[in-house]
Amino acid sequence: MPVLPSPASEAVAHARWAALRRGLWLLPLLASLLFVIGVLAWAYRADLAEREDRRTTLIADALSSEAQLQGMLGAEMAHVQDLARQLPRRARSAEGLLASPDVSEGLRRLWLSVTWLDDKNRILAHVPDQNALAGLLPGELADGPGLSAHLTQAMGVESLVVRYSPTLLLRRGIPWWLAHKYDMQLIDSSEQVIASLDQTPLRTDSPGRESYMVSVGGNMPGAFLELSLREAPPPFWRTLPLVLMGGFLGLMLVATQLLRRQVQRISRTEAAWRTEAAWRQAMEDSALVGLRARDAEGRILYVNRTFCSMVGLSAEQLVGLQPPMPYWPPDALDEVMLRHKRNLEGRAPRDGYEALWCHQDGRSLNVMVFESPLIDARGQQTGWMGSIIDITARKRLEERERHQAEAMAQQSRLTTLGEVASALAHQLNQPLTVIMGYNAGLQRMLLDAGYDNQAVLHALAQQGDQAAEAGRIVRRIREFLTRRAPQREACDLGAVARRAAALLQRDLQAADVQLQWALAPGLPLVFADPILLEQVLINLLRNAVDAIRSQVPTDRPEATGLGSIRITAQPSGQRFVRLDVEDSGPGLQGRTVKHLSAPFYSTKSDGMGMGLAICRSVIEVHHGGMDAGNSSLGGAGFSFTLPVFDAQLHEASLAEEDARASLESEGRT
Ligand code: ADP
Repeated sequence: MPVLPSPASEAVAHARWAALRRGLWLLPLLASLLFVIGVLAWAYRADLAEREDRRTTLIADALSSEAQLQGMLGAEMAHVQDLARQLPRRARSAEGLLASPDVSEGLRRLWLSVTWLDDKNRILAHVPDQNALAGLLPGELADGPGLSAHLTQAMGVESLVVRYSPTLLLRRGIPWWLAHKYDMQLIDSSEQVIASLDQTPLRTDSPGRESYMVSVGGNMPGAFLELSLREAPPPFWRTLPLVLMGGFLGLMLVATQLLRRQVQRISRTEAAWRTEAAWRQAMEDSALVGLRARDAEGRILYVNRTFCSMVGLSAEQLVGLQPPMPYWPPDALDEVMLRHKRNLEGRAPRDGYEALWCHQDGRSLNVMVFESPLIDARGQQTGWMGSIIDITARKRLEERERHQAEAMAQQSRLTTLGEVASALAHQLNQPLTVIMGYNAGLQRMLLDAGYDNQAVLHALAQQGDQAAEAGRIVRRIREFLTRRAPQREACDLGAVARRAAALLQRDLQAADVQLQWALAPGLPLVFADPILLEQVLINLLRNAVDAIRSQVPTDRPEATGLGSIRITAQPSGQRFVRLDVEDSGPGLQGRTVKHLSAPFYSTKSDGMGMGLAICRSVIEVHHGGMDAGNSSLGGAGFSFTLPVFDAQLHEASLAEEDARASLESEGRT
């Protein structure tokens, strides 16, 4: 079974979502921070790689510089060895040394002095002599440091020592682009600077600058060549892109702050708007007036809860619908469509109009509709807003009042009629009694006179019986009209029906109507007044004959003999007997028994419209019921039920009647 979200959990989810949305302003800042961190990481890695490259280049440059120095020293050593091979042939004096071109060239290159030593290391000859060497010493010596190195070559027991300037060695041996890039120094094992490319011979320890030291060895044992980068590279966080990133982050902070303020302002406005919308919704839903907004084409844009309950459809089912609407009565669509068009054209009555609508469950409702223009924010009309009031209850009340007024009018006419009929019956009673008296006197006189024409005597007897019967009928009707209780007794419904049919024999024959009988055998007796019952049956049969007759074209009265009437009587359950009078006439055409038995309702030119009204009230007085519908013979079918005679009930009702009679007589006295 699907679990529906409870309103509480929905509220919590909504609050969480609102809090999340309130914090959305942080998102750009967080994204920027992530971006900056990414760029920093990338810059750091690039810086590391660059350092690695620089270090590799530094090592390669140091090694190649050392190789070049070694090469130069090797070449100088070769010159010294050449000189040593020449010297045994020379005079052991300074002139002798100077006579060798190697010496003068050496002094011009980087030699500082050449000394010839004997086996006891005593100087045999030494150049330069200050005077002799004027102009031979290289000018750079003046700038160079005072430290010097020497090359020694043995010549048997004697030896040759050549002093040279390591500074000159550096300046001449190192290519200019390396000298431009690096600060180079020759250092001995005790970290003493032997030579330097720069004027400052002291080693300056600068932590940012990278340096690399390589052992020279060979002809300069114990010496090291140190290369230091002239410029310390700036730390990666001081590079331009990162400075720009810093600026960007600062601007982002400012922008975020502005965004935050804006989001807060919007959130406050939104909350106020939501509260207002909730209030409005609550007001609209609690209103008893239905609200319906439509666009200019008549499409439903909005409905409130009252409107939905009025027509029995949900807002989802209604919104977006176009005419014809599901709540319009299906049998009056054309008329409602015309009214709808009139309303859309703005011609709806200002003080509202009444309409008949249908609820989804089929019941109809009366509504009062007031249309007013729907104006949007720009002041333009976009449709119509209708306020709808359900006036069904009011209408019903009005209808009931009208019915009551009609019923009262009819009641007073009935009372008058009852009084007239009662007076008439009273008046008729006397001549009938006189007729009976004359009849009885005449019969006696004829008998006394010995008159024996049996036909005449029989006719007279019949006349007397009929007059007595007429007197009884008049009396019963009078009693009924004066609201006396009917004279109920156990009676055979079949026999009563046959008597009524016998009384109408002539009419039935005149109309050539065939009478069919379907009386169930052993039909129980009913508890009723047989005279009133007879009148009911006479009325039903006469109506049936009239209905059959009404089908015969008036210009061809001879075309009769087509009609038939069927009288059916059978038990209805344990306690009732039912009698049906069906005919082959035109039928009731949808009219109900309630409709037909309304007093004074008649479709006949000479009809009074009281027949069925009296029949119905007679049956109801007998605790029965009357109904009408279609018959299988093609016409109308009238039926009534009457309670079965019950001896015990009969006695009880007799006792009741006695009690009532004694009460009435006591009241009178
Ligand atoms: P009346 O006979 O004076 O018209 P009733 O109360 O007996 O008054 O009948 C009322 C109306 O019911 C008749 O006018 C007739 O239209 C209709 N009606 C009664 N019985 C039948 C029937 N068997 N077939 C068709 N219509 C009938």
